[in-house]
Order: sequence, then structure tokens, then C-alpha cells
Amino acid sequence: MKKIAILGSTGSIGQSTLSICESFPERYEVVSLAAGRNLDVAFAQCLRWKPRVVSLATEELAAALAARLREAGIDETEVVYGSKGAVRVATLHEVDFVVSAIVGVAGLEATYAAVCAGKTIGLANKECLVAAGELILAAAQKHKVALLPIDSEHNAVHQCLRGGRAAEVKQIWLTASGGPFRNTPAEEFEKITPAQALKHPTWVMGQRITIDSATMMNKGFEIIEACRLFSLPPDRIRVTIHPQSTVHSLVEFIDGSILAQISVTDMRLPILYALSYPERVDIHIAASALAFDLGALNHLDFSQPDQVRFPCLRLAYEAAESGPAACIALNAADEVAVAAFLQGTIPFLGIPRTIEKVLQATPCNAPASIQEVLVADEAARAYAHSLIALHVAH
Ligand code: MG
Repeated sequence: MKKIAILGSTGSIGQSTLSICESFPERYEVVSLAAGRNLDVAFAQCLRWKPRVVSLATEELAAALAARLREAGIDETEVVYGSKGAVRVATLHEVDFVVSAIVGVAGLEATYAAVCAGKTIGLANKECLVAAGELILAAAQKHKVALLPIDSEHNAVHQCLRGGRAAEVKQIWLTASGGPFRNTPAEEFEKITPAQALKHPTWVMGQRITIDSATMMNKGFEIIEACRLFSLPPDRIRVTIHPQSTVHSLVEFIDGSILAQISVTDMRLPILYALSYPERVDIHIAASALAFDLGALNHLDFSQPDQVRFPCLRLAYEAAESGPAACIALNAADEVAVAAFLQGTIPFLGIPRTIEKVLQATPCNAPASIQEVLVADEAARAYAHSLIALHVAH
């Protein structure tokens, strides 16, 4: 029985993880949850899973949840809060496996603490590798901890890499759906509205990641993550537009062979892969909806991404080349700019314009601790806010 902690249990990855635990109760036991601000869902999860520890974002939310649990007659769940609470959820002695799916830098400290506590990590939080990749990888090596990617592309690469040795890898191909504006002419980008950008063709996801898919910054982050996870330079991580999202990514080997991973577009599959690695679990009875119908597959399209219409891709390659501080700034500026776009404060192309200006102002240094990462993140965020307030990126 694997004992699971979920950081970000009320988000889409968290809920998919709980769905896997529901399907395979003989394999996975939910021990602790970090749930953020969604009190109602956190309460429902406590009723269903009776975790030993649950953490919420603030002391007030934690007090409210504790009161509701007492009323419901549940007294075995300890309620904690804040970043200390998330660290406690991630480092409980009995936990074997931590699913890191808190969105944003809020997940950094807890994930880092889990690595240092020797827990196996299922990684779905982008900031861990984009903003603190070198620190987290160094800690993982030191504590002999496996980092198993849950993001569908990196999970696919992880699977394909089992087909050859590291020295035999020529390059990695990350697939991208291309987002809703794959075929939109360049001159229409300025007028793109939040409602248009929130319609993703193949995946149903949170708001920020949906906008990041529309700008292709999401793929940019994935390039950086792939560099860290698979120890390859940015020029050996390629992107290919694949609108069907059927091939989740590919690995090209030096002998000319390319291995691709195909499955349904359902996050439960990469989660199950990570939870069960190095084994594979039979989904036949418990989750047959996850089976792929090869007979229904008509064709697969691949094409080159357009870095002119999607400048965020270029910015990500530049940040990956320039180092950790630039990657922190890239992520922080993007989060601020995406929020401003969603509020109608800046236009769609204001997102890359803001990021580019923040990158230009970012010093070239490497943070030595998670605290320094958080400080650099704050500085980049503050600068992005000031650019937006001054209408520099409009
Ligand atoms: Mg992805």
C-alpha cells in the first residue's frame, strides 16, 4: 500500500489523483492533503478520505474547517495552515509519495521539504522546475529521490526514455496542441479576448494554464522543465505542433528511431504512471475509460511552431539559455501578466511584452536557496506590476 500526500488536492490534478486512489483502493491510501482556499471541497474531501492531516491556506480557513469537521463528528483529522502546514502535509513520516500540484510558487517550499525528507515526488507543479529546478534536482540527487513527472508531455518523455540510454538520446520533441489560436493570423492577436483565450481545444484545465496554452508560454515552461528533468540543453528540446494531442511527446534517438507515447487525453493516466512507477497497473476493470481506441485514430498531424506569432516560446528559450534567475522572472512575470490580461488590464500581446521587459531587467545570478528563489520571484512580480501600472506593456 502506497501512502499518498497531495499538495493541491482541490485543483484538477489533485482531484484526478483522488479519482485514481478511488479506482485502486488496494494500492493507494490518502494520508494527507493540502487544499488551499476551497473550504467546501476540502471539507468534502475530509469526509470522504479522512486524512490524518489537512492544510488550508490561512488560519481563518483552517479554523472554519476544523469547526465543520467537529460538527460532522470527525476528530481524527488534524487541521493545519499556511506554508508550514503544507510542509507538514508533505513530510509526514508515514507518507511515501507526494503529489506536488499546488499551482504557483506556493508549492515550492513544501515540495523541496518533501524531497529533503526522502519522499518520492509526482511533479505537476511547474514552478518547482522552472523557478527552482537546479535546487530541487540537487536535493533529489542528494537524497536519492525520484522525481516523476505528471505533466503529460514529460511523463511521455519519461516513458519513451525507457527505450534507450541517456547517451543515445538525440533530442526530445514536446508536442503542443497549438492552443485555440494555432491558425489565427498575426494581425488578429492584438484583439484576442480572455473569453476566446479560455477555450482550450483538447484539455480542460485551470485558468492560468489555459491562458499559458493560448500564448504557448505553457510549452515554454515545459521546455525549461524538460532541460532540468532530463539533463539536456535547450537546443535539444524541440516543440512540434500536434493538434490532436494524441501523441503526448516523443524521444528521438541517435540511430534515427523516434519513440512516441500515445494515450487518451486524461491526466489520470500520467498520475497513475507516476504513482505506480516502475510498475504498470492494469486499468482493465477499475478504469477502462482510460483505454485508447486505436481503431478510432484517423491521422496525426505535426507541424513547426511559429515563434513570431507566439513570442512566449522564444522568450522561454532565451530564459532557459540565460539561467535560473531568468527562469524565475519568466514565470513570475507571466503569472502577473496573465492575471492582468484576465482582468482586462492589458491586451493578449501585453503578456509577452511585459515578460520581455522583466527579463531585460533581470540580473544574471543563481539563487542558492528556496528563500532566495522566493525573493527573486517577488522582485520580478513587483517589477511586472509596476510595468503594467505604468501602461508600459499595453
Ligand atoms: Mg503539458
